[in-house]
Amino acid sequence: MTPPYWLEDEPPPRRATRLTEAPEVVIVGGGVTGCACALALAHAGVRVRLQEAREIASGASGRNAGFALRGGAMPYDEARRRLGREQARALWLLSERALDRLADLAGDAFAPTGSLRLAADEGERGALLAEYTALEEDGFTAEWRDDLAPPLASRFHGALSHPGDGSLHPARWVRRLAALAAGAGAELREHARVESLHELGEVDVVVATDGYSGGLVPELDAVVRAARGQLVATEPLARRVFACPHYARHGYDYWQQTPDGRLVVGGWRDASLDTEFTTEEAVTPLIQQSIERFIRELIGEAPAITHRWAGIFGITPDRMPLVGRLPGRERVWVALGYSGHGNVLGLACGELVADALLGRERPELGLFDPARLLTRAD
Ligand SMILES: Cc1cc2nc3c(=O)[nH]c(=O)nc-3n(C[C@H](O)[C@H](O)[C@H](O)COP(=O)(O)OP(=O)(O)OC[C@H]3O[C@@H](n4cnc5c(N)ncnc54)[C@H](O)[C@@H]3O)c2cc1C
Repeated sequence: MTPPYWLEDEPPPRRATRLTEAPEVVIVGGGVTGCACALALAHAGVRVRLQEAREIASGASGRNAGFALRGGAMPYDEARRRLGREQARALWLLSERALDRLADLAGDAFAPTGSLRLAADEGERGALLAEYTALEEDGFTAEWRDDLAPPLASRFHGALSHPGDGSLHPARWVRRLAALAAGAGAELREHARVESLHELGEVDVVVATDGYSGGLVPELDAVVRAARGQLVATEPLARRVFACPHYARHGYDYWQQTPDGRLVVGGWRDASLDTEFTTEEAVTPLIQQSIERFIRELIGEAPAITHRWAGIFGITPDRMPLVGRLPGRERVWVALGYSGHGNVLGLACGELVADALLGRERPELGLFDPARLLTRAD
């Protein structure tokens, strides 16, 4: 295992803000969610302190595949069936607005490339066509592609293109967000694990720990399951093969090519699902070999692997995040459980919680009410 490729990027300078009075809000977790929440609160003049156990972006936010996708973990047609048409539409619109905002804030950490969701077989083609139809019916931009270029044409059975999506350098993005939050007056404390919410005293707390939540809030442990994703980065290829993030097999395989020509490829959790439900940030030979085999088959060459890493994300039973006040806990808020789809939603949900704390609760918060899965703690 090596450090994640993304974390080798030089962090931007950041103001070393220290609060002179006690914080009004403490945020636990320095990923995209925590930093987005900190920025929004600091902007509004709230005394906010963020505590991160390791460093900013050291969790999933600096370890992921860098896909900036609209929507949630469910395909749109499934979201329509499960949530109802209006709610599904509200979720997609929320994520589209968040993508616009991300594009404004991220600078060169974001590129508006679109994304390509590929059908690995005829069954998946049918599923993607159903999603395409549902998106079209509800007025969302999407394109169906049968004209796949090599090396995709021989392997895949069509693709759903989302022109509004993009590619992220995730660590650069979140560190930039953190720098904006510090600049706006948030105190960011790294290497400052919160061992228990009691140690924080009488203050509003936002728990933004996604797959790394274990043990901090007992009632969350029953509904947020930690899952591991493994990735590799290759040496730079001499040619550009992929212009945007690609994913296939219902999201089990995913890859993109970085601006300097490397392939960042991840997935194959389903080669060993039992062992991949874990909090251990480690790579395994089985999954790593599956990824390497896929690269060889896909591009017909075996570039050297320069980086191998893993990250943990939190899955909820209905694959919708939990965002809002915890039932039975007046001053504890959560924003987590993105089920592997939090790069854009993390921004949206961190801001939704900040708005609620500022007394400006937005209707979209109702989409993610923790009470749907959690009972009161008392
Ligand atoms: C391998 C992989 C690939 C992925 N690919 C994509 C993708 O391409 N697109 C996408 O949208 N999503 C993707 N995801 C999901 C996405 O990365 C997450 O949904 C998102 O980063 C969650 O951000 P977060 O800020 O909520 O949590 P995180 O970024 O995980 O941050 C949580 C932080 O909380 C800290 N923490 C935990 N406990 C404590 C404590 N007690 N005290 C202080 N700090 C604590 C942790 O150290 C961690 O830094 C992927 C995830 C993984 C693991």
